[in-house]
Amino acid sequence: MSENGTSRRGFLKTAIASGAAVGAWSHLSLAAEGETPAAGGAAPAPTVPRRKLGATGQEIPILLMGCAQKFDEKYDKVLHRAFKDGVDYLDTALVYEDGQSHKTIAPFIKQIGDRKKLWITSKGPGEADPDKAKAYEKELDTCLSQLQTDYLDLYFMHAVDDPARLGPEFIKMGERMRKSGKVRYFGLSCHGKQEVEVMNAAAAAGGIDAIMFRYHFARYGDLALNKAIDACVKAGIGLIAMKTQDSVPKDQEAVVKFESKDFNLAQAKLKAVWADGRLAAAVSHMDNTTKLAENVAAARSPVQLSMNDFQQLQRLAAARAHYACQGCAQICEARVAGETKIADTLRFLMYHESYGETEKARRLFAALPGPARRLDGIDFAAAAQACPQGIDIAARMRRAHDLLA
Ligand code: SF4
Repeated sequence: MSENGTSRRGFLKTAIASGAAVGAWSHLSLAAEGETPAAGGAAPAPTVPRRKLGATGQEIPILLMGCAQKFDEKYDKVLHRAFKDGVDYLDTALVYEDGQSHKTIAPFIKQIGDRKKLWITSKGPGEADPDKAKAYEKELDTCLSQLQTDYLDLYFMHAVDDPARLGPEFIKMGERMRKSGKVRYFGLSCHGKQEVEVMNAAAAAGGIDAIMFRYHFARYGDLALNKAIDACVKAGIGLIAMKTQDSVPKDQEAVVKFESKDFNLAQAKLKAVWADGRLAAAVSHMDNTTKLAENVAAARSPVQLSMNDFQQLQRLAAARAHYACQGCAQICEARVAGETKIADTLRFLMYHESYGETEKARRLFAALPGPARRLDGIDFAAAAQACPQGIDIAARMRRAHDLLA
């Protein structure tokens, strides 16, 4: 593990000695410890390295295939190439691609020929029944049926934004699922709203094997999140990062002209997550072989981010702060009259601005109920004042309407 002839620990020591702002990065000192194989000095690992997923003891690749996409049912070259490179973990969900993701993964599972060679995680939204625990159980059966498999390696309650979902009935439901053999492990994903509260509740509740949550370079200094991560690690919960690119609008990204001798910006953002040894893995949306190859190269590379790389990412974090909605809808939406969906609207705007997915953004915006799209006559001043990101909510909502309505 060398970086310009300096070990990772050496790098951190140098940083501390130089008085650099390492306080927020102190948790990075365990980066890559316990990681396998990454052997061979400075030589790249032969496949993507693996880390243990919390107390499950199971080793998963540090790079996971995000499956919010449709695959080629005959032969998907991205999935097959990923598998060959050691990315044998598929992260899907019942609702991904309007329910099409599962259907297009099922043939791939058959093509691999040995179910045990793949790790499959899926998620249910908990909407199939008014009794939420029953809903998750019904949705698990639907996942198995659509994927044409007998079990999931991991089943998540999808997008949990309420700590009440960690109540005893849900923990018992997870136990039932494990005992039934339909799932090996059970957990949840959380996307922003009450994320810290949900993670702390999971750590306290027990019975949660893994959590997937939003984590990226701009969140290093989030004290409450760091404490929640520590609590989860202490409770043996395996942690998986999603949204690692932080969806920075292209024009803001251009403000910081990221330059590194080792990595491009997308790779650097992944390396920044992997530098945190508390995380087992990062899920990535890889819809072509170029992205896959870049991400695999970054995962395999024993080279760590340089101090300069980290500093550039910190500058990017500062530059994008006023544009980066964190999804904490409970803060702003409680401060406007009516049912306007601020967090959802700004997320759709991000799809357009950061990924160029304008059609998807417009489709999702159009699917919001009429009152949730309302803008005229709404005073966003109190919401903007409370927004932890300092977002000019009125201006951003107006822009979203202009572009997406
Ligand atoms: S606009 Fe601000 S308060 Fe509202 S969800 Fe986004 S970051 Fe949170």
